Amino acid sequence: MMIVMKSDATEEQVHSVVERIESVGARAHRSSGEEVTVIGAIGDREHIARLELEGSPGVDRVVPILKPYKLASTQIRHGERSVLEIGGRKIGGEHFALIAGPCTVESRDQLLTAAHAVNQGGATMLRGGAYKPRTSPYAFQGLGTEGLRLLAEAKEQTGLPVVTELMDARDLEPVLEVADVVQIGARNMQNYALLSEVGRSGVPALIKRGLSSTLEELLMAAEYVLKEGNESVMLCERGIRTFETAYRFTLDLTAVPVLKELSHLPVIVDPSHAPGRRDLVEPLSLAAAAAGADGIIVEVHPQPEDAICDGPQQLRTADFARYAQKVEAAAAVAGKASFIAAAA
Ligand code: PEP
Ligand code: MN
Repeated sequence: MMIVMKSDATEEQVHSVVERIESVGARAHRSSGEEVTVIGAIGDREHIARLELEGSPGVDRVVPILKPYKLASTQIRHGERSVLEIGGRKIGGEHFALIAGPCTVESRDQLLTAAHAVNQGGATMLRGGAYKPRTSPYAFQGLGTEGLRLLAEAKEQTGLPVVTELMDARDLEPVLEVADVVQIGARNMQNYALLSEVGRSGVPALIKRGLSSTLEELLMAAEYVLKEGNESVMLCERGIRTFETAYRFTLDLTAVPVLKELSHLPVIVDPSHAPGRRDLVEPLSLAAAAAGADGIIVEVHPQPEDAICDGPQQLRTADFARYAQKVEAAAAVAGKASFIAAAA
């Protein structure tokens, strides 16, 4: 249920509603917007209904949230968009994030070269995997803690917030030492124990859509993180499996406006993993930005031909600045503020 307070409701009245919700064992999620405070009551519906909050002092109305995801729904924020602030960089609303860097942290030289290039080109955050989900157990699995150490160095040198994947809750502690955003990969989107752990940690989470997950399933994954009181969640479309075989995955750009209709959370797009081809990354990025995405997470490598992982799809660092300018222009079409100037 969602309790919408009157615009002149006092702090005591809000507090009293929260206390009453909690008195029946439900959770109260308060969200104070510019005009009104909305309290999401998550728990047994009948217990909450018995409180008869409608008519209580300061309460305007009580509305059921019909979607199975509650905290992720547009309704709970009363239509307001969530804006996350990560290491001084904003994402959501009019703020566009360009997250760029190599697929995998391979060496000090490779990571630092990529980090400086994307920083100078206008990226707002640095990506790089230290723990890699690989289809083959014989493939390179990432540098692990050494990769994290290198990411920390890249962050120190460039000032860029770091986005890196967490695959196993046992690695949470070392990952949290460097990550400004923890990426939950497509293959882990329904790893509910991992999602809850990231929720409890409070670290901003970037959740990628599973290869064959519906948008509702993606939103339910976000709900696991939000339910733990962690409000910093972004959703990422990265391509889904379809019958098409001409490229790797089908980048579902319809997901962008639809997710933004269903949820207040920032929606970003990964244009690298769907095509698996460098020449398709730019057109997909421009389409995503023009469709209203709140950001892009893209793979960039100093020498893609030597990359250990995902070489054919990684942009060259030398091409990044020009690419970023084009993305910025496409994002402007959808009403986003300049991010290159903001990063400089
Ligand atoms: C990645 O970002 O490098 C990655 C493995 O992504 P996904 O989980 O979308 O496959
Ligand atoms: Mn990759």
